[in-house]
Amino acid sequence: MQKCPSCGYETDTQVMRCPECGSFYSKIIELIEQEAEDEARYRLKSRLRRVFQADNKKQAVKLEFERLSAGLTLKAKLALWVIFVFVFALIVTVV
Ligand SMILES: [Zn+2]
Repeated sequence: MQKCPSCGYETDTQVMRCPECGSFYSKIIELIEQEAEDEARYRLKSRLRRVFQADNKKQAVKLEFERLSAGLTLKAKLALWVIFVFVFALIVTVV
């Protein structure tokens, strides 16, 4: 039996978050989740920094894109590609 620290909702199932209010049952889990979010944000930042600091930005973007897509499934790649094309088309029509 777990009891939510913020709203008091009790559950028998092993869940990390309260189904009632969304609070974490454990402080440790909350910290781990935050850590993962921070790391993802940090990775994105350093990725962008690498691109901006590169002499050859076009090459750097390509490299980062390749690195990024290496960890993605085909479906995710397709979705990213559609977004990329859409943003590109938007830029081209505006400029
Ligand atoms: Zn709760």
